[in-house]
Amino acid sequence: MHVLVLGAGQLARMMSLAGAPLNIEISAFDVGSKNIVHPLTQAILGHGLENAIENADVITAEFEHIPHDVLEVCERSGKFLPSTEAIKAGGDRRIEKALLDEATVKNAKYYVINSREDFTAAIEHVGLPMVLKSTLGGYDGKGQWRLKEQTNIESTWAEMSECINATDNQAIVAEEFVSFDREVSLVGARAKDGSIEVYPLAENVHTDGVLSLSTAIDDFELQEQARNMFIAVAERLNYVGVLALEFFDVQGELLVNEIAPRVHNSGHWTQQGAETCQFENHLRAVCGLPLGSTKLIRPTSMINILGEDSLPEAVMAQEGCHVHWYGKEKRAGRKMGHINVSADYTAELQRSLLLLAEVLDKKTYPAVHEFAQQMK
Ligand code: ATP
Ligand code: MG
Repeated sequence: MHVLVLGAGQLARMMSLAGAPLNIEISAFDVGSKNIVHPLTQAILGHGLENAIENADVITAEFEHIPHDVLEVCERSGKFLPSTEAIKAGGDRRIEKALLDEATVKNAKYYVINSREDFTAAIEHVGLPMVLKSTLGGYDGKGQWRLKEQTNIESTWAEMSECINATDNQAIVAEEFVSFDREVSLVGARAKDGSIEVYPLAENVHTDGVLSLSTAIDDFELQEQARNMFIAVAERLNYVGVLALEFFDVQGELLVNEIAPRVHNSGHWTQQGAETCQFENHLRAVCGLPLGSTKLIRPTSMINILGEDSLPEAVMAQEGCHVHWYGKEKRAGRKMGHINVSADYTAELQRSLLLLAEVLDKKTYPAVHEFAQQMK
């Protein structure tokens, strides 16, 4: 089996690692350079998308911000999974919100802004405080503004309108500010025959809008809510592959924040903590194979390594710690790798995180230190 992945980052890399034992070969389309590259070495394997499409059995994607002309040629080949519709829903907050409403899945109250008049209407409809998000191109909290008070309306508009004018088809989605207790996400897979397997929910901590710590949790009531919403969205899209839903937990009630039509950072813990990791399950789904069990085998946390290309040796020396580097050049704030830390019991995992807080510096790993602080 040969799978072509749109996007040549760490997600394609980890798909490649998970696919090898199944004889699934991955090549990646680097959307920037338009080269076909090896997802592990980045060695150039070819030029031009047409040939790569021809040679692939299946085409999938590792991110949602893909030029529409690229999506169209892939869709036309009849090999692309999930669908163009699913990728567009993940990449455009207008389509995403409409999809959630159609699937009758709870989400934050919103209003789409294309003009100054719309902005006034949004303030009326949604109320303050609000979060304003660019509809296209947002990731890791980029392209977002917070509006708390009436006095900041004009200055916020000045910043936002620049963004609306700068890009074709760009608009802003105004969302009510949700006072959540915590953020959780559900990663799951839907196979070609419609069967669905979801992983245990992960509790996610963000630092400056970027995911920093993710831990699999065991909460029957929340899991059921999340699973039902997952099924509603996946079936509405006739989805095939791994899909992630991000939620706000507001006193035990889940609201969907956003969806990601792909393997997700908050699912990296499954590499050590679940029977079958998300990367393998994505490949199984798009290749028409049976899904693997998503059962938790060990309580696990994932720590993102942001902007650093080395770790104290004590991390790898610690029992239950697994380091995954992405082979990327060091840049401030960049996702460079992650650490999965597993244990036999939750209490043991907590002890392990406390030990990691002693060796990981506070500036780069604030979420681990906050966790340690709370435990004291
Ligand atoms: P990523 O790609 O990392 O998931 P993103 O750029 O797509 O991020 P969101 O997930 O929409 O953006 O928002 C980033 C973070 O901002 C959320 O995880 C949450 O912490 C906060 N946030 C977003 N929307 C709201 C809201 N309506 N109310 C309160 N906080 C919010
Ligand atoms: Mg998000």
